[in-house]
Amino acid sequence: MTLPYLPRLLCISLATFFLIHLALGLGVSLIARPAARLGERIRPHLAARCLLVLRLLPAVGAALIVVVVCLPSYLWLEPEAPTERVGFGCLAVALLGIAMWGISLARGLRAAAGSRRFLRQCQREGRRARLPGELANACMDTWIVEGTAPLLALGGIVRPRLVISRGVVSALSPEELAAALRHERAHWTSRDNLKRLCILLTPGILPFAGSSRTLGRGWRKFAEWAADDRAVDGSARRSFALAAALVRVARMSADAPPSSLARLLGDTDQLAARVDRLLRPAPPSQLPAGPRPILALSAILLMAGSLAAAILQPDALYSVHLALEHLVE
Ligand SMILES: [Zn+2]
Repeated sequence: MTLPYLPRLLCISLATFFLIHLALGLGVSLIARPAARLGERIRPHLAARCLLVLRLLPAVGAALIVVVVCLPSYLWLEPEAPTERVGFGCLAVALLGIAMWGISLARGLRAAAGSRRFLRQCQREGRRARLPGELANACMDTWIVEGTAPLLALGGIVRPRLVISRGVVSALSPEELAAALRHERAHWTSRDNLKRLCILLTPGILPFAGSSRTLGRGWRKFAEWAADDRAVDGSARRSFALAAALVRVARMSADAPPSSLARLLGDTDQLAARVDRLLRPAPPSQLPAGPRPILALSAILLMAGSLAAAILQPDALYSVHLALEHLVE
């Protein structure tokens, strides 16, 4: 089949993305389970960060390689022929790439739209509230909705919005409510809603290997543990109050949670482990900050820059171009 220059470039980019994603995905699938198990031995916020990086690595890595290596080699070395032949194999792989992105984008956008609708409904039906004392410092817009639903959730990517049901407000003591809100604030501080949305928008790792699910579940678990630890901040009293709040909210019958909202209970099958951690004699302590994100980002950019400088040599680009030529045919 013959295609004009730009559609052919798009076709090659998608096919290359799919193949590199597959190769990186195979590697990540091999270490997903051991990594999720190993997470239990390190601090929860570090474990959550590692699992998130592994979950996003195939898609982000493949996209970077396409943009930094394949596109320049094609644009510089491919003469601008008005049309050229593209093989059936390349076309088929590009279609798989389109399907993969289509599925994940639809999943992420549907979840985001569902959460947005849910928050809007809470804002329409609920009453904007000012929380007393320490809770007012949370700097979060808060809505109280009437009813006995076990609802305590934090929504929003740019601006935090907290919704609580009247039932939860009356069921929790002021100390338990304060601990629960500190937990939600910890989710906000670590931008967990944004991370949740990134996971939903990113293509799954391998269709039948279950590694995306393992890493996603692991990330959610450690993100909850990390938020618990930050909320408790080393105080046995707050630890006990948060455990009591979790048990009380769990006792109120639960609805299905919209997937891009942080809810107090998180995954309900993880509840026993969380309560157990909180009630241990030594309460989880406030963790010292890991390497500053800006430092980590600078290191990654430096490595990517060196890699790009090494690859963007005429010889290396020529080899990539030859490989792409084989792919096209
Ligand atoms: Zn939570």
